[in-house]
Amino acid sequence: MSISHDEYLNLVKKCNQLNIDYYQNNQSSVTDKAYDQWYQKLKRYEEHHPLLIASDSPTQNVGTTPDSGFAQYEHKEHLLSLSNAFNLEDVEKFFERITKQTTHTNFNISIEPKIDGCAVSIIYENGKLKLAATRGNGKIGEVVTHNIKTIGSLPQRIPFLSPLEIRGEVYISTKNFEKMKSDFANPRNAASGALRQLDPKVTKERYLDIFIYGSSTSNLASHYDTIQWLASLNFPVIETKQLPNDLTIVKNEISKIQTTSYNVDIDGAVIKVDNKQLQHEMGTTSKAPKWAVAFKFPEEEVITTLEAVEFQVGRTGVITPVAHVTPVNVSGATVQRATLHNFDEINRLNIHVGDEIIIKRAGEVIPKIVGVSKSIGKIKIKVPTHCPSCGQDSIRKIEGQIAYQCINPQCPAQIKERIKHFCSKNAMGIDGLGDAIVDQLLTENKIKTVADLYKLTRNDLIHLERFGEKSTENLLSAIENSKTKPFTNILFGLGIPFIGEVSANIIANHFKNFSDLFNASEDQLLEIDQIGPKMANAITTTAQSESFKSLITELIEAGIKPMASKKAASTELTGKTFVITGTLSRPRTSIEALIKDHGGKVVKSVSKSLNYLVVGESAGSKLTKAQTLNEAGATITIINESTLIKDIVPS
Ligand SMILES: [Zn+2]
Repeated sequence: MSISHDEYLNLVKKCNQLNIDYYQNNQSSVTDKAYDQWYQKLKRYEEHHPLLIASDSPTQNVGTTPDSGFAQYEHKEHLLSLSNAFNLEDVEKFFERITKQTTHTNFNISIEPKIDGCAVSIIYENGKLKLAATRGNGKIGEVVTHNIKTIGSLPQRIPFLSPLEIRGEVYISTKNFEKMKSDFANPRNAASGALRQLDPKVTKERYLDIFIYGSSTSNLASHYDTIQWLASLNFPVIETKQLPNDLTIVKNEISKIQTTSYNVDIDGAVIKVDNKQLQHEMGTTSKAPKWAVAFKFPEEEVITTLEAVEFQVGRTGVITPVAHVTPVNVSGATVQRATLHNFDEINRLNIHVGDEIIIKRAGEVIPKIVGVSKSIGKIKIKVPTHCPSCGQDSIRKIEGQIAYQCINPQCPAQIKERIKHFCSKNAMGIDGLGDAIVDQLLTENKIKTVADLYKLTRNDLIHLERFGEKSTENLLSAIENSKTKPFTNILFGLGIPFIGEVSANIIANHFKNFSDLFNASEDQLLEIDQIGPKMANAITTTAQSESFKSLITELIEAGIKPMASKKAASTELTGKTFVITGTLSRPRTSIEALIKDHGGKVVKSVSKSLNYLVVGESAGSKLTKAQTLNEAGATITIINESTLIKDIVPS
């Protein structure tokens, strides 16, 4: 179907606005499928009317122009986007084009999963990570070096000293996205937002990850060899396969990728000509390389009716809307519930109970509502005034966030979730306390807090539904065994706001038990590297709460004896404080662990009472400050890394 020039211009405008939403505001206001359809339509028009192509058409540009909040960086070799293939025919045509354009008939291709993330270019010089920039419009990106450095899996130093440019896709793993899904529509938006934060601390809290998928500076003969080489330099590379250009083999590999679970959103497969020489022969268009194509998995969208919205209350009281829909089959599974994420999403979609809605299921994730197909519903979805669990007028918006929360600490749903969290594998590891059992114990008033778990007797359990001698015995011994779990597990299990597994571990390395921790002032907590103001404040506030104090007393009376996380290897450095500054040859955390293992303490800031300043390469203000303090009479010993290892730390 052909369109008029006005309709074409309208599509250009619509696609450009979507691009701005997508790349700059980290939002997607329509589905990728809708965008692709508009894009294909305007592209078809341009193919027939090459003289009428608008200069601002999205086909003439990749992404959008960079935002002004960041320094700009001109990519030496442009970061192009990829042409799409929506079915195997498109892949076949791609193979035909290659054979037509070159004299080769027998070439290899490489194939890899396509990650729905944010593309970046990273530059290493003299073996050190020097600069990282976003794709931006493909030609000019934004410098995000400070944020890229928060990615733990990306080496900051590599055993290769010549200049190196690598390309990767920054993403948030499915597991980590679970924790923040009430604030973002999808992992890509959360990752893109995190990458473009001015404060790396905020970025760090989103736990970014990266897959490296190529390098513009590699001289190796094939793409596959380049990936193997990058892996040997310790880069987290994307799983890449080398295959013959055989459609059946490629098809098998595509379905393998589609059914594999990667702990990250995969929306297709990238197929490239493997041989670099052949890649050069084929060249690129202004927008995309001719030697690569992105096969997009079909996303099945179905229409059903939104019957009701249920509000679930989580462990911290956060309210999550869950949609109940008329049962419908999507990609082979019957769907009755779908994600609505948060109230912003409900407003954005302007969705009402009774509407005919579009739901989509991509991969194995819970289906989500992506739009309204017929706005026939009358019932507006409002933020509940009363908590669906405790019935109290206790719902508040969380400051600085999109989410709402029930602030009643006695809320049954929260109590239940808190108990389940306390028993979970990475906390107290009490097996056998599933959802149904906790429910029964709560309704029968056998437990009110986690401390009550330790008062349970055989008589309390044996009468429970589905409980016998064996399961009673197992549960009681699991509870007993949990009494000597490390301090870090208990700290995590108590669910103090902002204290996740990682921060619980850091805290447990500094404090042996609850009284040590709760006697610490906010300033003392802030001295610990990696503990920010939010966490320090949460700990002191929680420690002062009467109900928390009595919970801890009860737990200790019940026989909880948290073990110190790790015994110090020696106590030779006890009482000595260290500040580490500049770039060191090994990860800073390993140096810190070394100091702590011998009883030393690593603090953040240089003061006149400091004992040692460990100085790495390009140390700045901390070194100057120590020198000034020393001139004024302080006795800070300034050492480098090798002196620390050889002379200070006992061997
Ligand atoms: Zn409540």
